[in-house]
Amino acid sequence: MLDKELKAALQQRQQDHRYRKRMVLSSPQSTHITVNNTPYLAFSSNDYLGLANHPAVIESLQTASARMGVGSGASHLVCGHSEYHHQLEDALAEFTGRERVLLLSTGYMANLGVVAALTGRGDTVLEDRLNHASLIDAGLLSRAKFKRFHHNDCEHLEKQLATASGRKLVVVDGVFSMDGDLAPLPDLVAVCERYQAHLMIDDAHGFGVLGERGGGCAEHFSLSQQELPILVGTLGKAVGTFGAFAGGSHALIETLIQFARPYIYTTALPPAIAAASLTSLSLLKTETWRRDNLRERIQQFRHGALALGLPLMESATPIQPVLLGDDALVLAVAEKLKEQGILIGAIRPPTVPEGTARLRITFCADHSGEEVAQLLACLDRAIPINSRQTI
Ligand code: PMP
Repeated sequence: MLDKELKAALQQRQQDHRYRKRMVLSSPQSTHITVNNTPYLAFSSNDYLGLANHPAVIESLQTASARMGVGSGASHLVCGHSEYHHQLEDALAEFTGRERVLLLSTGYMANLGVVAALTGRGDTVLEDRLNHASLIDAGLLSRAKFKRFHHNDCEHLEKQLATASGRKLVVVDGVFSMDGDLAPLPDLVAVCERYQAHLMIDDAHGFGVLGERGGGCAEHFSLSQQELPILVGTLGKAVGTFGAFAGGSHALIETLIQFARPYIYTTALPPAIAAASLTSLSLLKTETWRRDNLRERIQQFRHGALALGLPLMESATPIQPVLLGDDALVLAVAEKLKEQGILIGAIRPPTVPEGTARLRITFCADHSGEEVAQLLACLDRAIPINSRQTI
């Protein structure tokens, strides 16, 4: 009986061109990956700096696991909080210029934990409508009044703040994960000050990438802890490892330790992952050529894609979507690219709004100029002329 109902919903999903399938990787994450036994040039991971498979990061993981084992065996508050976790928190606090940082097991959990620990019944959570699913879920979980404002629209936010009650938490992605554009953080800081609201950003896609030192949106816009009191970052993207952190004042971090349920009731990350993240963090700071390469590749791509009339979005980050609109079309184009040896994610609703299906092209510091030229040639062959802009 249950299966019959489930199959009907699955069939509908298929008819809507929204059925998702997993691919099986048999290589490390990299610009060249083997998927379902076939090699591809990939523009689809969030390993923006190419650190996920870096020899020094691997070595740190191996050394630390030889010393500390694999599983942490307990939550942070019982007996799973190792010296590697502690050192990583201190290093992240120093790097981000925050008083303290708390390590959480994933970005999804960090967002749930922070929003729900800071707000409850009688409060108001205000979110950009294009925020990541984990932030939307966090707003719903908090039981606060939940309001969504138009994308990057500070005037709309102000209207909503004018009637908001209780503690007011404004939450945005620093870099929007499916669009690649930035939140207007200086304007949001000013609005929050006017309405005595608190600003939280999820900098999953900015941390490590933006700013001269890779400090992310906070560095890019030079925002202090006072201006940006709640900063969430993840370690599974530019840092190339796994996990997440929240940074801010001593009182904020103590509040999370006492009240953030996704922190309290889960097993701590393997300590060797924290050790690997420490090494990765120091590479991220010192190997500035990775961010330089990335910037060059992004510029090369945008220049070439605009010359081909490809429908790009307003993004200066490694996330460069090509907006095709139709779900079936985006799947067909991704398939044609695969036939040419190029792997790119076809992103459809509900991940993005209806009618905005897109190829989500992402760049990595390891992509070469020749590889970007190859990508442009393949896109030119795969994308129909009537889906382009007149040049
Ligand atoms: N926030 C954003 C903006 C993300 O894109 C993601 C992951 N796709 C997350 C949070 C979740 O992070 P994690 O993968 O560490 O759970």
